[in-house]
Amino acid sequence: MKQLVAQQKSFFNSHATKNISFRIKQLDMLQAVLKGNEAILNEAIYKDFKKSKFDTYVSELALLYNDIKEAKRNIKKWSKRKRVSTNILNFPASSYIIPEPLGVCLVIGAWNYPYQLSFAPIVAALAAGNTVILKPSELPSKTSEVMAKLINDNFDPNVFKVVEGGVAETTELLKQNFDKIFFTGSTKVGKIVYKAAAENLIPVTLEMGGKSPAFVTEDSNLKMTVKRMVWAKFLNAGQTCIAPDYVMVHEAVKEKFLELAKAEIEEQKFQFDNDNYVQIINDDNFDRLEKMIQPDQIYYGGNRDKQERYIQPTILQNVSFTDTVMQEEIFGPILPVITYTDLEKAISEVRKFPKPLSCYVFTKDKNAKQKILRDISFGGGAINDAVMHISNPKLPFGGVGQSGIGNYHGKAGFDCFTHYKSILDKPTWLELPIKYYPHTQRKLKWIKRMMKFQ
Ligand code: NAD
Repeated sequence: MKQLVAQQKSFFNSHATKNISFRIKQLDMLQAVLKGNEAILNEAIYKDFKKSKFDTYVSELALLYNDIKEAKRNIKKWSKRKRVSTNILNFPASSYIIPEPLGVCLVIGAWNYPYQLSFAPIVAALAAGNTVILKPSELPSKTSEVMAKLINDNFDPNVFKVVEGGVAETTELLKQNFDKIFFTGSTKVGKIVYKAAAENLIPVTLEMGGKSPAFVTEDSNLKMTVKRMVWAKFLNAGQTCIAPDYVMVHEAVKEKFLELAKAEIEEQKFQFDNDNYVQIINDDNFDRLEKMIQPDQIYYGGNRDKQERYIQPTILQNVSFTDTVMQEEIFGPILPVITYTDLEKAISEVRKFPKPLSCYVFTKDKNAKQKILRDISFGGGAINDAVMHISNPKLPFGGVGQSGIGNYHGKAGFDCFTHYKSILDKPTWLELPIKYYPHTQRKLKWIKRMMKFQ
């Protein structure tokens, strides 16, 4: 690993990656590798947790193709030096900002969207002119294997290399002197990564999780609310960092909400005997989720099969903030429904949790919308929808507080792997004497006068 990082450093220092056409070539290669191997990618992810071709396209590959297109379309504009005005104190001069790549980057991926979460930061890193080492999550072993094979067979290892492994390999990687570490995963491991990065003062982007709430007010369009929320929650069997974790429903519409949610799960056919639904990633997560299902709280679902790592979409009712299911991020197909009558109190309960990655508001009430947007700090979200904000590359994606540090996607992704070098460029034909010693009252007066025009 030490040698790999040293080789990438030496390649980076050749300045080859600073060439825009070199970067576009890398993005074209990534696009070609993904497009040309969709069948292999589909097969691997199906073996890992029964994710269908449809879901793999919609929630992984399509997002990556979109990211690549957005980066290629804007790479020239984003990489240009930008002129800014010069203050009077520095007259005569010009001022500009030069975007420069950071260098050798490490990207650590999570398992729940193995392709999207591994490659989306890579698109940003390569577009910004870095070299990069990817360590995908080891839990979906087939996708990790296929990513390593496809990338390592097609890319120059000095530019982009995949290193497979779990805790031991990641720990070793974290000892290396990278120029940037981009991590996606749990808050617990995020802290380990942050500590390791601090040893060498390496900048980090940490994409983590949390308990993302959804609010449903009394006046919401319930049918549409439930349709969108059920899709967002049970997609990938709830193993989505921005899925609504739990829902705060106004007491007056609770019964109707529950009835519609049950019908909607059946309508969208989130069943294990078709390809609309995936497995829980491993036994540990299955056992963890099973403990959250209290039989007396089940309104719908609750069936499971340990052998198949299958948990039916489950709705829990009469849930309170002290229940097991409310003690940690669920990250599975369990939707606790909590009722409220006073929005103010509901918000103050939600605010007792660390700042979440997402928050959703289903409402027609402008005041309720504004209140929630103003009073709760969260990474990003949607009004009358859930999850879909991730698909707009113009929206920076990331958490806040315990749910994350930094943003990416689109321009934000480019920024996340870029240093903005600020330059004051002065000619030598004129120099105002006022800053030079010996100081005098007259000079001070002039400085004060000039400060007024700053
Ligand atoms: P995780 O933290 O267990 O693992 C993430 C990565 O860290 C993996 O590559 C793993 O190999 C590595 N890792 C695990 N333990 C480590 C250790 N002790 N030292 C060094 N590296 C270690 O997370 P996960 O289970 O893969 O993902 C689930 C979590 O990720 C959830 O909390 C979810 O909300 C979050 N998540 C966030 C986003 C986002 O974009 N913000 C996306 C997906 C998942």
